[in-house]
Amino acid sequence: MREDTKMKKAPVPLWIVGSVGIDDIKTRTDDRKNLLGGSVPYSTVAASYFVKPGAVGVVGTDFPAVFERRWRRFGINLDGLQREAGETFRWACAYDDNMIERTTLDTRLGVFAAFKPVLPETYKAAPFVLLGNIQPELQMHVLKQASGAKFVALDTMNLWIDTALPALKRVMRKVDLFTVNDGEARQLTGKWNLLDCAAAIRKMGPRYVIIKKGEHGALLVSEKGVFIVPAYPVRKLTDPTGAGDSYAGAMMGYLAKAGNVTDRLMREALVHASAIASFGVEGFSIERFEKLTAAMIRARVRELTKMMTV
Ligand code: AMP
Repeated sequence: MREDTKMKKAPVPLWIVGSVGIDDIKTRTDDRKNLLGGSVPYSTVAASYFVKPGAVGVVGTDFPAVFERRWRRFGINLDGLQREAGETFRWACAYDDNMIERTTLDTRLGVFAAFKPVLPETYKAAPFVLLGNIQPELQMHVLKQASGAKFVALDTMNLWIDTALPALKRVMRKVDLFTVNDGEARQLTGKWNLLDCAAAIRKMGPRYVIIKKGEHGALLVSEKGVFIVPAYPVRKLTDPTGAGDSYAGAMMGYLAKAGNVTDRLMREALVHASAIASFGVEGFSIERFEKLTAAMIRARVRELTKMMTV
């Protein structure tokens, strides 16, 4: 949605491409409909605690204006959000009682089916890029427009490992960091041990590999070795949807603010990502983030760091 404005906008330091959708989510205790969802809202909102990121995605004419207003309030640049005639991507799921396993009840692609991401001029020079979970061919298509990209992170899902593996492998060769959950890492490499998975993934291209293990935290593997980041133990898990997206968004936001990537910064970024993602799952959609302050994040980072210290 391009805004008509005469003012020249500041170039974005980070942009994120992925899905933008409307979700229906059922848990043991709640049944929520018509929530702002998709990987881009979660990841841009999480990144917004550090920088003003750009969002690249598509919505239909039914995308509620109130969603756009709530999203914009985080200072996110929506120049890369295309509005096409048709319906917004919709997704419905139900969580098992363990709040880990979930069943997809419905996926309606709508305008997402014909999505061809176009990078706005103000995004092209951005040094940091997060290729959120969309078809690998589209990830490649949009990456080719990113002339200023210096550090590119890639996320994916089991669907693309199953159905678009050659294209996914082509994108993996072009990125610096790959983030994946444990099941997907095993599926992708055919190996069981997660360190073996990470080594195999690093051979496919990315220097950094993050293997997420849900409530058990994540492993970062780089040439410097392994870093273990615990997940913050939340007391009130409300909706795990989008946790991986907010994790990746917060991490990239932190690095984009630093303007550099070192092992030390990456470790700091992951501790912040873990803290921010833990807030996200305390509410549906981006609701918990709407009440989150910088001081609350700092306190949780301190608490998490204390929990990690011997
Ligand atoms: P996650 O919990 O990290 O898997 O992300 C959840 C978000 O991904 C939801 O808000 C959905 O709208 C979105 N989503 C679900 N299925 C897909 C899909 N096939 N492609 C892109 N996004 C999806």
